[in-house]
Amino acid sequence: MVTRNTKQKEFVLNNLKNKFDHPTSQKIYDDAQKQGIKIGQVSIYRILNNLVEEGLVCKIVTKDNVAHFDFVRKNHIHLVCNNCNQIFDKNLGNDDNLTELINEFNISMQDVILYGICKNCKNNKF
Ligand SMILES: [Zn+2]
Repeated sequence: MVTRNTKQKEFVLNNLKNKFDHPTSQKIYDDAQKQGIKIGQVSIYRILNNLVEEGLVCKIVTKDNVAHFDFVRKNHIHLVCNNCNQIFDKNLGNDDNLTELINEFNISMQDVILYGICKNCKNNKF
């Protein structure tokens, strides 16, 4: 039982590590099905929430109330468009004041999400 749980957790974590498109738990479930991995949707959701609690994964909820997940990468924040619900990645540069602060800090959990209207939607005036 323990081995199985560890395997499932590894699958979810590796799935997120290899992706940069902020998948939903449904998308991770679809990948598991494709790869023939035995794991239920409820298990995936539970594992995801555990990983968020452990600070390995961050949860990004868009305005349409859909939860997306991403592997926590250092000095990396998210911007969410409230109009098209797209998630944008922003890597902080070495000379950013925030990066300096982050490097001095012992991070146990990362949850930096900026909400607004993206350039595309702004230009199309919604
Ligand atoms: Zn947008």
